[in-house]
Amino acid sequence: IFINNEWHNSVSGKTFPTYNPATGKKIADVQEGDKADVDKAVAAAKEAFKLGSPWRRMDAKDRGRLLLKLADLVERDQVYLASLESYDNGKPYTAALYGDIAGSAAVLRYYAGWTDKLQGKTIPVSGDYFCYTRHEPVGVCGQIIPWNFPVMMLSWKWGPALACGNTIVIKLAEQTPLTGLYMASLAKEAGFPPGVINVIPGYGHTAGAAISNHPDVNKVAFTGSTEIGKLILKASAESNLKRVTLELGGKSPLIVFNDADLDVAIETANLGVYANMGQCCTAASRTFVSADIYDEFIKRAKARAEKQVVGNPFDLKTDLGSQIDEEQYKKILQYIEIGQKEGARLVTGGKPIGGEGYFIQPTIFADVKDNMKIAQEEIFGPVMSVIKFDSMQDLVEKANNTIYGLAAAVVTKDLDKALYVSNHIRAGTVWVNAYHVVDPAAPFGGFKQSGLGRELGEYGLQAYTEVKTVYIRVSEKNS
Ligand code: NAD
Repeated sequence: IFINNEWHNSVSGKTFPTYNPATGKKIADVQEGDKADVDKAVAAAKEAFKLGSPWRRMDAKDRGRLLLKLADLVERDQVYLASLESYDNGKPYTAALYGDIAGSAAVLRYYAGWTDKLQGKTIPVSGDYFCYTRHEPVGVCGQIIPWNFPVMMLSWKWGPALACGNTIVIKLAEQTPLTGLYMASLAKEAGFPPGVINVIPGYGHTAGAAISNHPDVNKVAFTGSTEIGKLILKASAESNLKRVTLELGGKSPLIVFNDADLDVAIETANLGVYANMGQCCTAASRTFVSADIYDEFIKRAKARAEKQVVGNPFDLKTDLGSQIDEEQYKKILQYIEIGQKEGARLVTGGKPIGGEGYFIQPTIFADVKDNMKIAQEEIFGPVMSVIKFDSMQDLVEKANNTIYGLAAAVVTKDLDKALYVSNHIRAGTVWVNAYHVVDPAAPFGGFKQSGLGRELGEYGLQAYTEVKTVYIRVSEKNS
């Protein structure tokens, strides 16, 4: 447990194991933080945020330098970090290196550039007053992250929080605590003052709940399930109305029109649903395909899925590693069973790979109906559900028929269709002839029950600042 730039054992003396999901074997025991440790960390973060503290007195550009240094250290240790990520999470090493770790350095570097550009405004108010706004840090930021992109989710939360001058208490996912702890050591090496960043491995219902209920936490940022997101919002309402941003689940539609380049469509659908073994909040988990190319699409999607290499995450040829743990593995297999019972046609996959670890074959269901469970609930696994559509009329309505609204994609060469879908889909991100494109400079977040607020880009700064309006009486205002 990392508090005040020092390593602590848990107050309770408890530890918990973390496993390599590719083998099911234990890697290490980790200190288990709970409420008492959160209290210690919040006190440290509050102290570091005190008026006159080194962090509050630091020039904005120097906060930027610290973030740049951290990004450099992430790149210096990218092989170690990617290995640890792959080991603790089961994702392919190549994906961890080129996706998670490279993406994390990019986000930290992007936000480093913002530190001395957080400007308020001068406002022409009525009367003899000079009026201006200041964008001030919110204060102690609680951050609760999931296991699917451990370092990346941490960087998305650290970058804007630190750029704006806040202090942090982050709780790592219990399934993947190792890389976040390593990031803590890099933060210390980069030179962040004690108490600015505090890192707690531990469980959600204890350490996570202690953060979301804490009266001295001024803001909480959460990524995870919609179910827990609601608890976070409730905890805020029942404690101190801490600011809340939520990045939650999704059931994102990918729409393939009959004019699409089928090669592009197959690659897009394949990447959309199988990336990170389907464990993406933005996964293309509902694939709508035009009736006149449906059979051809299924045939080619099947061939493409069967070409994927599933196995040892450290083999450089591997496309899909293991699912995160036994619980998710069982949940996915259960959904595959439900899909078959509901009458969807299993085209390929559907089974565990067998042997040790939690590997599942890339799976495709055809003839999926809009109202089936597998078309409504988040599976979070490598399962493509293909739904046939005949006309544009009911397509958008069907695509929008979900409690979620995180992302959507359309594959077409027709600009009218692309724009029609982009404008009518209720989702935070729409990709045209692409999938899973995420950039530090562009906002990311959900409509409907996929979340609250936006991360990344300039929009992502809003959640980490309070706007203060200052009126100063002047003797004689001039226009
Ligand atoms: P989760 O929402 O339970 O966990 C996410 C984070 O919240 C973890 O750090 C967890 O410890 C913490 N948490 C859990 N209970 C909490 C509580 N009461 N108070 C505060 N924090 C709490 O997600 P999960 O159990 O890891 O996965 C369940 C499902 O959530 C998945 O199958 C998937 O559908 C979805 N999920 C979505 C994302 C995403 O990026 N949107 C990420 C992970 C999981």
